[in-house]
Amino acid sequence: LDAADADYLISLIRSVPGFPKQGIMFRDFMPVFADARGLRILLDALKANLPVGIDDFDAIAGLEARGFLFGPAMAAELGKGFIVVRKAGKLPPPTCTESYSLEYGEASIEIEREAIAPGERILIVDDLIATGGSASAARDLVIQCGGRVAGFSFVMELLGLQGLQALGDYPTSSLLTMP
Ligand code: AMP
Repeated sequence: LDAADADYLISLIRSVPGFPKQGIMFRDFMPVFADARGLRILLDALKANLPVGIDDFDAIAGLEARGFLFGPAMAAELGKGFIVVRKAGKLPPPTCTESYSLEYGEASIEIEREAIAPGERILIVDDLIATGGSASAARDLVIQCGGRVAGFSFVMELLGLQGLQALGDYPTSSLLTMP
């Protein structure tokens, strides 16, 4: 991602203070998808900044909901399959389920049990990593479902939260960083 392309992507990302609650600076990626040049830059940059080699993973798993926007396009362009990680209760059984704690309360995410073959190497993708809680839960879910985590790819990392470190010892990449 050269400086001009990074600046262009950042110019498209809308920052909304106080959404969805007070104290949060929400980073809205939707304008990147609405913009033909932005979308092309994003997909090319994700493909060019994989945390592992193209032969070091078998499939991409994307987190609901914004991981669904670019994960399948990335997978198709890389010749891989795409696995959906959904909030609990959306996928038909049998599923693998992982619960994790949020700031207030708990959340659960699921994968369809047949989606991951034993030992399959999975690249986990999401739009943004903050604390790393969601991506860590996805990591545990993939492992519980019999897969192996090849690495993680994010569009953006929020600085100061040590999100990437929370994932453990895996290859990671993020295209952009923001406070
Ligand atoms: P975390 O589990 O703390 O790493 O949070 C990551 C998840 O929450 C991702 O799915 C993000 O889309 C979403 N998220 C967290 N913080 C923000 C933010 N400031 N702006 C937009 N999305 C966010």
